[in-house]
Amino acid sequence: MFKFKPVFKKRKYITLKNAVDKIENKEEVAPNIPGGMWIKCNTCGNIMYKKDLEDNAKVCTSCGKYYRMNAKERIELVIDTGTFREIDRDLKTVNPLDFPQYEDKVAKSKEETGLEEGFVAGYGKIYGKDVVIGVMDSNFMMGSMGSVVGEKITRAIEKATEERLPVIIFTASGGARMQEGMYSLMQMAKTSAVVGRHSEAGLLYIPIITDPTTGGVTASFAMLGDIILSEPGTIIGFAGRRVIEQTIRQKLPEDFQKAEFLLEHGFLDKIVERKELKKTLYKIVDMH
Ligand SMILES: [Zn+2]
Repeated sequence: MFKFKPVFKKRKYITLKNAVDKIENKEEVAPNIPGGMWIKCNTCGNIMYKKDLEDNAKVCTSCGKYYRMNAKERIELVIDTGTFREIDRDLKTVNPLDFPQYEDKVAKSKEETGLEEGFVAGYGKIYGKDVVIGVMDSNFMMGSMGSVVGEKITRAIEKATEERLPVIIFTASGGARMQEGMYSLMQMAKTSAVVGRHSEAGLLYIPIITDPTTGGVTASFAMLGDIILSEPGTIIGFAGRRVIEQTIRQKLPEDFQKAEFLLEHGFLDKIVERKELKKTLYKIVDMH
């Protein structure tokens, strides 16, 4: 079957992104918010003014579906206004394996996201409490973990260990960055080791696993928290569902790899509503 792409680029009328048409193949519908002033929820069909959705922490005002947030929005969600100070912004990604078109992909992601890499870290305050916060941005090459992402995570945690601060990291990742091959895989060991040292120093580390977190990130620092939080409906896994089904030749449960399923099976400590997240983090940090 042929599928035609629209010829007209500029529309003069208000557009409604209707993801319901594509819902048959659910996995291909990324719940990002498209351009335009209005948005139709791809779960319940509710039509919202885009600003209302953004004011509601990107949660559908009708059915409560969670839309993805970028790094900047995450920081704004939990960090006191004006207290965020970014660290290690200037680390540059190189192409260690001379992987074809890798530089182009990185350049494109930089342009689209306004970020230097798929991880942003810095100091900030949560209701006046000092923390080190890091956020992966799934819009930057699917939040994949290359050498620079791994290095930035490591440095952020090392700084927190030195200054005896708690670390909070939002994860969102497609896994290791294939364009960096073995260098990407080594980041799993490196980030895990630094989390270990932070813990040995008696300090707190809270990962918040957001949609989607998979692959080498799940298999390293995302799952090594003292208290592991997540959001409703988040997909968390290592290998993809289809790969597992084909390998074990069995049908997996419907809610497999969903945060609720993982909570029930002891992989998560709590699923926290977005609106409650800042308060929850404050309580944990304060208790510690
Ligand atoms: Zn909805």
